[in-house]
Amino acid sequence: TRWVYSFGDGKAEGRAEMKNLLGGKGANLAEMSNLGLPVPPGFTITTELCTYYYKNDKTYPSDLKAQVAEALATVERSIGAGFGDPENPLLVSVRSGARASMPGMMDTVLNLGLTDVTVLGLVKRSGDARFAYDSYRRFIQMYGNVVLGVEHHHFEDILENVKRDRNITLDTELVATDWQAVIEGYKKVVEHELGRPFPQDVHEQLWGAIGAVFGSWMNQRAITYRRLHEIPAEWGTAVNVQAMVFGNMGNDCATGVAFTRNPSTGENAFYGEYLVNAQGEDVVAGIRTPQHLTIAGKEANKSDLPSMEEVMPEVFHQLDAVRLKLEGHYRDMQDIEFTVQQNKLYMLQTRTGKRTAAAALKISVDLANEGVIDRAEAIKRIDPASLDQLLHPTLDPKADRTVISRGLPASPGAASGKLVFSADEAETQAQLGESVILCRIETSPEDIHGMHAARGILTTRGGMTSHAAVVARGMGRACVAGAGDLRVDYKAQTVTVRGVTIKAGDTVTIDGSTGEVMLGAVPTIQPELSGDFATLMGWADEIRRMKVRTNAETPLDARTARKFGAEGIGLSRTEHMFFDADRIVAVREMILAETEHGRRAALAKIAPMQRQDFVELFTIMKGLPVTIRLLDPPLHEFLPNSDEEMEEVAKGAGTDILKVRHRASQLHESNPMLGHRGCRLGISYPEIYEMQARSIFEAAAQVFKDSGETVIPEIMIPLISTKKEFDILKAVIDKVAAEVISSSGRKIEYLVGTMIELPRAALRAGDIAETAEFFSFGTNDLTQTTFGISRDDAGSFLPDYQRSGILEHDPFVTIDVEGVGELVKIAAERGRATRPDIKLGICGEHGGDPASVHFCETIGLDYVSCSPYRVPIARLAAAQAAL
Ligand code: PEP
Ligand code: MG
Repeated sequence: TRWVYSFGDGKAEGRAEMKNLLGGKGANLAEMSNLGLPVPPGFTITTELCTYYYKNDKTYPSDLKAQVAEALATVERSIGAGFGDPENPLLVSVRSGARASMPGMMDTVLNLGLTDVTVLGLVKRSGDARFAYDSYRRFIQMYGNVVLGVEHHHFEDILENVKRDRNITLDTELVATDWQAVIEGYKKVVEHELGRPFPQDVHEQLWGAIGAVFGSWMNQRAITYRRLHEIPAEWGTAVNVQAMVFGNMGNDCATGVAFTRNPSTGENAFYGEYLVNAQGEDVVAGIRTPQHLTIAGKEANKSDLPSMEEVMPEVFHQLDAVRLKLEGHYRDMQDIEFTVQQNKLYMLQTRTGKRTAAAALKISVDLANEGVIDRAEAIKRIDPASLDQLLHPTLDPKADRTVISRGLPASPGAASGKLVFSADEAETQAQLGESVILCRIETSPEDIHGMHAARGILTTRGGMTSHAAVVARGMGRACVAGAGDLRVDYKAQTVTVRGVTIKAGDTVTIDGSTGEVMLGAVPTIQPELSGDFATLMGWADEIRRMKVRTNAETPLDARTARKFGAEGIGLSRTEHMFFDADRIVAVREMILAETEHGRRAALAKIAPMQRQDFVELFTIMKGLPVTIRLLDPPLHEFLPNSDEEMEEVAKGAGTDILKVRHRASQLHESNPMLGHRGCRLGISYPEIYEMQARSIFEAAAQVFKDSGETVIPEIMIPLISTKKEFDILKAVIDKVAAEVISSSGRKIEYLVGTMIELPRAALRAGDIAETAEFFSFGTNDLTQTTFGISRDDAGSFLPDYQRSGILEHDPFVTIDVEGVGELVKIAAERGRATRPDIKLGICGEHGGDPASVHFCETIGLDYVSCSPYRVPIARLAAAQAAL
């Protein structure tokens, strides 16, 4: 088996398409080599080896050693140095590289190949003893921590002690002999902690590091990250071994991270940060505040530090050329890492750059307009779920705000919440339903669970590419990074700025689009849905086949949904209208009435309000289809609870509280979800549906009279399981229709259809379709009744089912294609066989879930219907499904 692939010197054995085998980093290093970009030579050990390693009790196949030795020899020849050579040592980096980027989750070792002997060779070759010893101590520290498991603080203590002895505050002030002292301390601490000396054999070092990287695939951080991002453990990671280049050999050296376009806004401008005389992780670690790449970037961020464009103009222009080449080649925004060693540029990484939802839209639309990609590709590139970030509120510009600090606008959106200082606390508070802002000096991969739980993240150190910034953007959390004037005191659980002290639990607001940190909760406003958003949604609308409707019954929801592009209402749950304060007492009277006469009296009180509800909905929807579902209440939701409520009902109905209490207990059900609800209520008390149907038709007639708008109401009967139920209730509706038509003298068109939300209805869809003019799949109830899992109680055990791999997704969120989906498919087929033009839609929660929308396209539904905020998500998902 081939386990090792080489790259460098303008050629490579791998390619960008080999991500599954070589991991993202390895595949792209190969691709950059093939493009002739300056990539330090190296090799990639495949992800298949990782799988082998875990399948075989953490051992390697017998043919690996020889392949590594051969690839290493190629690197030695290319660089002209020898691994372990005392005169001219080759140093390498060892890094992980999974298929999907997992920033900071797994281990990296730099400067590998340094020993007490080879460090002397590095001193001679570089002519810089300080640099050589600094590199060696960095290596011992990294290797000691990552591979040997010696805790960080041991190394930090030693460095602090040496600095204190020398009366020095900055690392850069330490000279070669100081670093030698640090090295002695480091080696002692390793020997003390492990009972054996730091390894002086470079091959032992190399295999130790390779094992550590493969081992880190299964560390807790990586496991958590994979769970959050749905990355399967079977994918494994690759290991990249690459010749070191040094950004810390002097002031003609630098290291940096850049995006080929702005990852926050999407603007087509080179965007990045660099540090002079620094190594690899210094930029991302947020230890020194990085400088901007371009003059424009520096000016936009009001930085006093000089840009790379000014400091190293020649290398900068080379880098800018690489930027254009990479974007042209990959046809997408790239996130790149580079190092400058003695004025020579080296590329260390390129990958598709993470970006905010707003930036993703702008970049896709711009690239399509530039002709780099087509519109279909632009649509495919947007994750529908990410649109959510754009639909949510931003700070009201007119609101009063007390700005106490300003950091970098690291991830957009505004968030308010209680201040917490640890990831664990963030998680605990969030579970209690609190909104929290997680404040840290800087974040590290150990904090991701807390970052996930928080509404917003605030750090006092680090730049736009710091861990906090990158992770927050990926998660869609608001983030302000590097608010340097805040003083965090973890012990006291406070943060102080210019004499003001804020305690844990105090409310603050952060604006990740401006970098502002504010006291208290600042009001927000709705977002603008124009510009790139509108452009891309317009493209999506041209491509999609399915219509997108909304589930709405209030005027506010209906208006919001229209603004988001809903093409009608797919489900108006009338029972939600019945909770309004102006009618709840009358509704309770109706429910509790013991006779038809009593019920009719109560219904007469409700009717005018109900008619007005429909007038408003029809008016807002301006002739678009509106599906109204007749009453479907689990009865218990309407029963009065307190004595006060009972008293109110008794008074309204002209009876006494004892009677009301008795009737309420009679109506009590053991399984309300499977009880007297849906059409069963209509069968027992047809006068309820009669009143609703009359309100609907009268409203339609009135809207025509007032505005000339023709409404074709779609009346939907819930929870049907037999054709007979449907026919009895359809007759009630048709009778009322005939009455309203004759009394208003105007013809009213309407459809009567049913929800398909019980397995029996799905199976009998063929005969139900003889009389039903449309079906709407109620996949909430259908999931509930197909699995026999109560949607109200599933929360206590579904997580166990997901953890143990019985269910991949929560079936109430993403449709269970194999079971519930099969029933939907059967019903669609049987319904169509009877009535070829039957209108088919879905109105369960799944209508707004991208994966489920995909399924709906495959079975050819006419529309999906979802809550207003998910309408844009469904529009885009429907377009992607049609591609
Ligand atoms: C459904 O069951 O999927 C549905 C839309 O109805 P409800 O959620 O109101 O029961
Ligand atoms: Mg239902």
